[in-house]
Amino acid sequence: MLLIGNGKLFTRDEERPYLPDGAVVIDGDTVQEVGSLADMKAKYPAAEFVDARGQIILPGLINAHTHIYSGLARGLAITGNHPTNFLEVLEGTWWNIDRHLTLDGTRACAYATVLDCIRDGVTTIFDHHASFREIPGSLFAIQDVCREVGIRASLCYEVSERDGMEKCSEAIRENADFARWCREQDDGMIRAMFGGHALFTLSDRTFEKMVAANDGMTGFHIHVAEGMNDVYDSLRKYGCRPVNRLLYNGILGEKTLLGHCIHLSPAELDILRETGTMVVNNPESNMGNAVGCSPVLQMMQKGILVGMGTDAYTHDMLESLKVFLLIQRHNACLPNVGWCEAMEMLFQNNAKIAARFFQKPLGVLKPGAAADVIVMDYKPFTPFSEENLDGHMLFGMMGRNCRTTVINGKVVYRDREFVNLDEEAVNAWTMEQSKKLWGELNHRAY
Ligand SMILES: [Zn+2]
Repeated sequence: MLLIGNGKLFTRDEERPYLPDGAVVIDGDTVQEVGSLADMKAKYPAAEFVDARGQIILPGLINAHTHIYSGLARGLAITGNHPTNFLEVLEGTWWNIDRHLTLDGTRACAYATVLDCIRDGVTTIFDHHASFREIPGSLFAIQDVCREVGIRASLCYEVSERDGMEKCSEAIRENADFARWCREQDDGMIRAMFGGHALFTLSDRTFEKMVAANDGMTGFHIHVAEGMNDVYDSLRKYGCRPVNRLLYNGILGEKTLLGHCIHLSPAELDILRETGTMVVNNPESNMGNAVGCSPVLQMMQKGILVGMGTDAYTHDMLESLKVFLLIQRHNACLPNVGWCEAMEMLFQNNAKIAARFFQKPLGVLKPGAAADVIVMDYKPFTPFSEENLDGHMLFGMMGRNCRTTVINGKVVYRDREFVNLDEEAVNAWTMEQSKKLWGELNHRAY
């Protein structure tokens, strides 16, 4: 048993949201009880104690959309790549990188991403992977790394026709093989979705094959109307808007997660609500790619479940929280919108999205929930309580305040050191793989 205590405990459980001197008791992979430190210590004297040293105890954070394949891109400049629009960003940067990713490259990307997530207090990720150089086995390679490091993950492969129909078929097969395997494992740490890139690189015939290969096993994870090119493509080639195309092709539903959804009409939003389809917003990525501002406030008013992701622009969910507030206020020209929605997306909605895939409740600390807990070393110098935690999160806390990360009842990161993982050795191997990838992209040695 594990007892994490001696801190301000925010449970995100409506019944008991805050304990000023709280403790979480973990039995195996599950939260056993939440209470005051004194009570829990008296009741569970033999439990191993993780001392929060008077700081902040929270449920682990969830990132509802990221891309492991971009894990080796930090600091990279590709010679001759000067994108002037979103499509050129994809072609010159991301598709270029993923066309060079071998299985070892994919593994290195996974280490880079997963370690950074854990440093930032992220305990569950929804990943959308592409490695068109070597597709078969790529999701299995990623899950090996996730399992070794100890993060919870939903994985999928990005089906696309952009590199021809043979690669497209391999991608469909990878999703189906992995989803089938996950269903057999059924262990609560790794889940599968069925990935698709975006409508403008997927024909109706391919959607048909995806639906057949998925055979109802899971939901789809796909980018929608991120750039206007996706909307024009649907209108020109199919005479309908993107969400209508997804509806006709049987892609929508309660287990389907749509990334971005920036350029959607009110009628398309109604379709998302009626089908119970989920949306994930990625504020920093949208600003970085200069693709526009997603109508998240309208979506949430309509009752669409909208979560928060990063699109791998960062792994810091608290950074994304801040940027979400800024982009929505800037877009609305109103300094008083977005606050409640920001908190709702990251905490309630990401937990609701996770609940559609993982058995135990995530993003909450209460009996029966998954034992994913973080300790943040935030030191307030103004009054701080359950009444204004949100304000401290929005304006003070960052992911790097995370000092200890517990996932599935295991301490994977304690006092900013990885437990049972040689970080230096992993970094050295990742660096080797980075140099190889960068060398191939730029035709020179690093
Ligand atoms: Zn994405």
